[in-house]
Amino acid sequence: MNQTAMSALATQVPDFAGLIARLGDAVPKHCILSKIEDTRPYECDGLSLYRTLPPVVILPENEAQIIAVLQACKAFNIPIVARGAGTGLSGGAMPHAQGILLGLAKLNRIQKIDLDTATAVVQPGVRNLAISEAAEPYGLYYAPDPSSQIACSIGGNIAENSGGVHCLKYGLTVHNVLKVRVVTIDGDVIELGSQAPDSPGLELLAAFIGSEGMLGVVTEVTVKLIPKPASARVIMASFASVETAGQAVTNIIATGIIPAGLEMMDKRAVHMVEPFVKAGYDLEAEAILLCESDGTEAEVEDEIQRMLAVFEQAGATRLQVSTSEQERLIFWAGRKNAFPAAGRVSPDYYCMDGTIPRRHLGRVLRAIEEMEDEFNLRCANVFHAGDGNLHPLIMFDSNQPNEVERAEKFGAAILELCVQVGGTVTGEHGVGIEKINQMCVQFTREELDFFCAFKRAFDPYGLLNPDKVIPTLVRCAEYGKMHVHGGAIRFPELPRF
Ligand SMILES: Cc1cc2nc3c(=O)[nH]c(=O)nc-3n(C[C@H](O)[C@H](O)[C@H](O)COP(=O)(O)OP(=O)(O)OC[C@H]3O[C@@H](n4cnc5c(N)ncnc54)[C@H](O)[C@@H]3O)c2cc1C
Repeated sequence: MNQTAMSALATQVPDFAGLIARLGDAVPKHCILSKIEDTRPYECDGLSLYRTLPPVVILPENEAQIIAVLQACKAFNIPIVARGAGTGLSGGAMPHAQGILLGLAKLNRIQKIDLDTATAVVQPGVRNLAISEAAEPYGLYYAPDPSSQIACSIGGNIAENSGGVHCLKYGLTVHNVLKVRVVTIDGDVIELGSQAPDSPGLELLAAFIGSEGMLGVVTEVTVKLIPKPASARVIMASFASVETAGQAVTNIIATGIIPAGLEMMDKRAVHMVEPFVKAGYDLEAEAILLCESDGTEAEVEDEIQRMLAVFEQAGATRLQVSTSEQERLIFWAGRKNAFPAAGRVSPDYYCMDGTIPRRHLGRVLRAIEEMEDEFNLRCANVFHAGDGNLHPLIMFDSNQPNEVERAEKFGAAILELCVQVGGTVTGEHGVGIEKINQMCVQFTREELDFFCAFKRAFDPYGLLNPDKVIPTLVRCAEYGKMHVHGGAIRFPELPRF
């Protein structure tokens, strides 16, 4: 990760034949792919704007094989990019042109569900939803629920500190994982965290969660399971402007209610998803809020009434409460399927992920609207409103001249606006390759130095997912924008932090 290690990687010719010879019988031949037709499916993750064909893909079947691979890569100075299900949206699992792609999909066993401790021990390739499915017969589930939960892996969730609709109340991945087992670049196995509420020493587990494959390869995860609520209902509230909807979000939180989920869609997003899911969304509304309550029947009834009162007072133009579990799921279906719905109305879309203080929701959405004209591209907005986590979906057509570049610039401008109003360049999708330039805007030189030092402590050779997440100072200088405290401000009337 230091400049010397990175330039050594850039100039060397990787000896993949030597690497494979060294692996010998430690990794079966059928687990190693090098023909283009076999490696092509791994050239990108969910962020298909950026692609690199991996020279070699290795699909280990157990931890011993992962140890052998990491030791061999270290010996041959070959970079390693770990990959779960490849649903990441920031290019985190995009291969390295001179490295191996380490796919963890075959490590997909749920090893234990322990009812005494309400925990599950799973391998990294297990799908997020598969954990809840396995726990369901015992009335338990795993709370973080990314919209991609049908496909994404728990290893990827840990690397990205993934969130989801229900994370406002139940927390992100970092709040729901107790322990991880990790293979280091030296091939050592370490365990971070414990079953106890606190573990002695420095809190390395929290620092590891969200580290995007840069510190080690996760081989086992212990997650918390929680009881499924007896009841859940969702309010669908329409508003005549995004500002009033944004104010309603602030008011809900200000009353002390923590909804199980609190999501917003603007008019364009509603018009995009309604023909796809037919959820009965209000097509007249400028913004729709979905606000869920869960708990016992009595708790839910009481909370729903209090939420309805807040929405009425905030000026909701239409209010509807789900009357059955089926209806609740239909209300959510539009929000959860917003990304695929974007694929129906535009040849390409680019999903951004920034976070802002909730009180700026309305104004920031207006600023994004102004940017639509500047970049001559349309944008639909869906987001985890309760967390202030925006997901602008920029529509473009990669076959049209300059549209990719304009979409990238539009996305970068949104992220930098998030920093300007006191937010962050990522809420849950990670930095990967996509947001690496905006890290220069978010962090000071000193802060980036600490990131580098932490990375180096785990990976002194700079071999684990190199060139991602942490920008070099040279890169920041080339990008020409540094931390916003000293940088140019796009919207001077917005608060500056
Ligand atoms: C339609 C759609 C909806 C989405 N909705 C959400 C959402 O609601 N919330 C959300 O947070 N995200 C969402 N995402 C993004 C994505 O699903 C998450 O980031 C997810 O956690 C990625 O998991 P994955 O298994 O696909 O990881 P990958 O994309 O394969 O990898 C992601 C990162 O994890 C690293 N990694 C993977 N496995 C390991 C391992 N075993 N050890 C070390 N590093 C590893 C990779 O190197 C990479 O940096 C969505 C994506 C899509 C396509």
